[in-house]
Amino acid sequence: MSASAASLRHDWTLDEVRALFELPFNDLLFQAHAVHRQHFDPNRVQVSTLLSIKTGACPEDCKYCSQSGHHNTGLDKAKLMEVQKVIRAAAEAKAIGSTRFCMGAAWKHPSAKDMPYVLEMVKGVKALGLETCMTLGTLSREQTRALAEAGLDYYNHNLDTSPEFYGNIVTTRTYAERLETLAHVREAGMKICSGGILGMGESLDDRAGLLIQLANLPEHPESVPINMLVKVKGTPLENAEDVDPFDFIRTLAVARIMMPRSHVRLSAGRSEMNEQMQALAFFAGANSIFYGERLLTTGNPEAEKDMRLFARLGIRPEEREEHADEVHQAAIEQALIEQKNSALFYDATSA
Ligand code: SF4
Repeated sequence: MSASAASLRHDWTLDEVRALFELPFNDLLFQAHAVHRQHFDPNRVQVSTLLSIKTGACPEDCKYCSQSGHHNTGLDKAKLMEVQKVIRAAAEAKAIGSTRFCMGAAWKHPSAKDMPYVLEMVKGVKALGLETCMTLGTLSREQTRALAEAGLDYYNHNLDTSPEFYGNIVTTRTYAERLETLAHVREAGMKICSGGILGMGESLDDRAGLLIQLANLPEHPESVPINMLVKVKGTPLENAEDVDPFDFIRTLAVARIMMPRSHVRLSAGRSEMNEQMQALAFFAGANSIFYGERLLTTGNPEAEKDMRLFARLGIRPEEREEHADEVHQAAIEQALIEQKNSALFYDATSA
């Protein structure tokens, strides 16, 4: 373990985290921003694109989710997308500046029948020179190994909230199962993307509890998405109370302090935040966004609007070290040629 990795803490207590949340707003932000500057260029934000590769009819009952088969949200369902369509969408994401391509499927877990297609998607997207990320539900040890061998860089599996509050939100999958999937992902050598959602009726201690679970994992997740609940009509949380915007920023800042080397992602719910709030979020330590794409099935601001905001704030997208060998170059060119023949960037409803 490197010296800097050894200095990361994995023993946060509830009292300590409560104390951070209770700091005066400016003191907390100052501290979070100082930590951020120690570990990152504060004027760089990592940009990912998210594609729903299989939409709706999910057997899980997550109360916040428009894709759960348990809720009547009127969502257009779509079966697993064709591999070539996914690769085309990834090429377009790269062309508009994304460095990571995240593919999400509304499953309890991937089936044996679907795995070969999923592995082909990973290989194809990777060959474009993009970082790859997937979220497919619970994974067995064998599945994580196969995904890692195919070249998957990140696996997203959110803890959602504290262990204490979790049962109010999801009953079809346990917290322990989630932790087990995260352990399999680590074992297979992949990076972890895991975070949670604010605005589901949780208490401040639940927010602290979520961050404690994430920070006290044997290694911090490389990516920590902090989502603001998007209240989808037809879900049990459609009338949930709004989160105080300052409490949302506080949570980002506390996450930054607790997991100083992780990318903290301003994730779902960003389209409902004004530009001033987003700027404050970047100051508090958020340094990753989804853009230029529909965020699974909820809205996300357009890429140009994001780029305009970046320009106004003097922020540049984080660059990825390119492996610009000939194979990758050829794959990129081929994908761009194919993409020109496609008028659609991505249409999850036509899979
Ligand atoms: S959050 Fe994921 S697992 Fe839960 S219902 Fe939605 S798609 Fe299914």
